[in-house]
Amino acid sequence: MIAEARRLAPRFAARAATYDRDGAFPVDDFADLRASGLFGLMVPARLGGAGASFADYAAIAYELARGNGATALIFNMHASVTGALAGVTDELAEALGLPAEALRARDDALRAAAEGRWYAVAMSERGAGSRLSQLTTAYEAVDGGYRIQGAKTFCSGAGHADAYLVAARSAADQSQVSQFLVPAGEGLRVEPTWDALGMRATGSHDLHVDVTVPAGALLGGVEGLALVVAQLAPHWMVASYAAVYVGVARAAVDAAVEHVNERKLGHLPAIRARIGRADAAVAAAHLAVMEAARRVDERPGEAETNRWVWRAKLLAGTTAADVAASMLEAAGTSAMRRGHPLERLYRDARAGSLQPATSDVCADWLGVDALGGDGDSEGSAPRW
Ligand SMILES: Cc1cc2nc3c(=O)[nH]c(=O)nc-3n(C[C@H](O)[C@H](O)[C@H](O)COP(=O)(O)OP(=O)(O)OC[C@H]3O[C@@H](n4cnc5c(N)ncnc54)[C@H](O)[C@@H]3O)c2cc1C
Repeated sequence: MIAEARRLAPRFAARAATYDRDGAFPVDDFADLRASGLFGLMVPARLGGAGASFADYAAIAYELARGNGATALIFNMHASVTGALAGVTDELAEALGLPAEALRARDDALRAAAEGRWYAVAMSERGAGSRLSQLTTAYEAVDGGYRIQGAKTFCSGAGHADAYLVAARSAADQSQVSQFLVPAGEGLRVEPTWDALGMRATGSHDLHVDVTVPAGALLGGVEGLALVVAQLAPHWMVASYAAVYVGVARAAVDAAVEHVNERKLGHLPAIRARIGRADAAVAAAHLAVMEAARRVDERPGEAETNRWVWRAKLLAGTTAADVAASMLEAAGTSAMRRGHPLERLYRDARAGSLQPATSDVCADWLGVDALGGDGDSEGSAPRW
């Protein structure tokens, strides 16, 4: 699968400027991902997938992002849904008291992914961001299932996914936040609002939800699991984007090297030093991301693992923005023209530290922790 990702990256890179210019969903990249079997990356082998670990995912996301960060970011949403579902092992399900029907629904969703379906995430809302505890989208139990009503925003791949993970709050009990897998189609309306500075090709539009789903659409089969899962598996919500942004940073170094060589600027010490520093910074951030991923696989949930998860996101976001800005400066004004790879990479990299957990939030979590507190519960605002 890593070899597949490396094969696809140059194809993505060749198409990236057009998708970025038009703010269009990368249709051909997704056709490539489907054909290569990557939608089944996180799906266990017994259900027809590749059974990848979190470290495998991080390595692949990095490679895909070297081609097109926006494509890798949309893919990240699908990997998060399938990875989190696959992470609900039978042992964990038993510990959480999940019903057997929920495990069948989990297996059906994962098998479908291995067969070529892909999932988007409709969690964030205007005003609440992705903070689960602040969501206003509401659901209520109705005959045979649930009715969900609300408005989502920043939904990468909206209008193209086969189904959406929708987070909502119980109308009957405000403390319960649950997640549903809602099939595309009736009851979901995309409002094309995404015209952003960076990651333009993610098509992260608004999604209006007024839908009734069968009981099996409730993930886990038990209400109120969303916050529990976020705290049990912070790597998907905090660190999975990290590999994407390190890949974007590496692409910026590669694009600068190509530009500098073409323009015969490599003899200038200031330019060489910028490239040298950028190379070292990206390599260090990459190591941090892979260390976090290794620990997630080997010692999930441990305090030191979680520290690495937050460190990885902080280092990736900050490094991407700093490196892309420095590479643009090394390359000069001609690289600022629309259509130059560095112009796009600069804007895409800028999104890294803004995407939750933002760099400021990661730094606050790590600071609270370093001072002996609980990073999850002692923030100045709720983390989730
Ligand atoms: C390219 C891109 C693609 C995305 N794709 C998706 C997607 O597919 N699905 C989806 O659901 N969402 C997606 N998101 C949305 C994302 O997950 C966030 O919900 C969104 O960026 C939050 O934006 P916000 O404006 O509410 O800012 P916030 O995250 O609320 O941040 C506003 C400010 O408050 C600060 N802040 C926030 N929380 C705290 C805290 N606890 N403590 C201290 N300071 C805090 C931040 O650092 C920042 O300065 C995407 C975002 C981007 C950039």
